[in-house]
Amino acid sequence: MTVATELFPGGVNSPVRAYRAVGGQPPVLVRGQGARVWDADGREYVDYVSAYGPLILGHAHPVVVAAIEKAARAGGSFGVTHPDEVRLAELIQRGMPALERLRFVNSGTEAAMSALRVARAATRRNLVLKFEGGYHGHSDGLLAKAGSGLATLGLPASAGVPEPVAAQTLVIPYNDLGAVEAAFAGHPERIAAVIVEPVAANVGVVPPEAGFLDGLRRLTHEHGALLVFDEVITGFRVAPGGAQQLYGVIPDLTVLGKIIGGGLPVGAYGGRADLMDLVAPVGPVYQAGTLSGHPVVMAAGIATLEQLDDALYAQLEEIGAELEAGLRKALPEARIARVGSLLTVFVADFPALFRRLRQGGILLPPSQFEAWFLSAAHGEEEVSRTLDAARAG
Ligand SMILES: *Cc1c(COP(=O)(O)O)cnc(C)c1O
Repeated sequence: MTVATELFPGGVNSPVRAYRAVGGQPPVLVRGQGARVWDADGREYVDYVSAYGPLILGHAHPVVVAAIEKAARAGGSFGVTHPDEVRLAELIQRGMPALERLRFVNSGTEAAMSALRVARAATRRNLVLKFEGGYHGHSDGLLAKAGSGLATLGLPASAGVPEPVAAQTLVIPYNDLGAVEAAFAGHPERIAAVIVEPVAANVGVVPPEAGFLDGLRRLTHEHGALLVFDEVITGFRVAPGGAQQLYGVIPDLTVLGKIIGGGLPVGAYGGRADLMDLVAPVGPVYQAGTLSGHPVVMAAGIATLEQLDDALYAQLEEIGAELEAGLRKALPEARIARVGSLLTVFVADFPALFRRLRQGGILLPPSQFEAWFLSAAHGEEEVSRTLDAARAG
């Protein structure tokens, strides 16, 4: 077999997968079930990567698998609107009524890029304010100080982004309302939108300080800019209505991905109807996608969202709290941040922790800056195995 390193840059199709930050070779995983994954030699791991967030029900949930099979047999995609696009949109709206209209795309990257295109068209302004460590996909304008992948590799931004494009993005510290005010004061009537991960989750988990999201809502309003929540991770993870429900702050536009595709490639953006009606064919903002709203993806998303009830979020909170409490005892020197089923263990030597847990059959995201993702399939057994491995140090 040709080795991956000959075929793909660094052997991977997304940079963090290359294990540069933790050393060693990534495992070759061939199967997943629930909270467990298996490598080609049959070695089992408890998985906290969860495909970097989408798998809130765990791997190969039988209902999701059945839905995918059924949709694949029905022969899509058709290049016209399918009933399952409507059904998934309704389920999203049920959680997030602020998405009066939305559009499906194929990745979170596309969704964030498109939402900002709408914001710029709506305000007739060019500048976008983002926060240090905020990741909103890899579109040209959004890679400055963009968290996990770049931070893991020690890169401030990406090469290949034209200077005039990069200059349209202002970057300021997260949780710093004073910096937001200063940015608005320094660029009067030029900032189209503030885009934010309402719980920062691509620099490790950093919850919003009290008043931060409210302050963004107030300041954007005062200055005629739009507020865009990137809920690609937090949407349907931290609450049925995402961070906008959890913190009670309603953005103008919302960016989604990950969970809403049930493990298949997806993105969506949406919000106020008057803003979304700027999108073609109704309005002048062009955005399109050959495979957008793919019936197989929609089916996986529907099967996933239909299972997300209050009991499931209560269970995720409980197991998250148990893991957090156990880790605090096992790793007294660590600083642990958690919002529901999103968790980060900040330690001085992350690679050492990563390797120790891997040795003990626990697979973490291979970067200090990626959140651990719990799923509904994580239970007592997984937690106790994790704590045993953590204590082995
Ligand atoms: C993963 C992620 C994205 C990008 O989504 P892709 O589907 O990987 O393009 C955007 N924003 C946030 C907050 C993310 O975590």
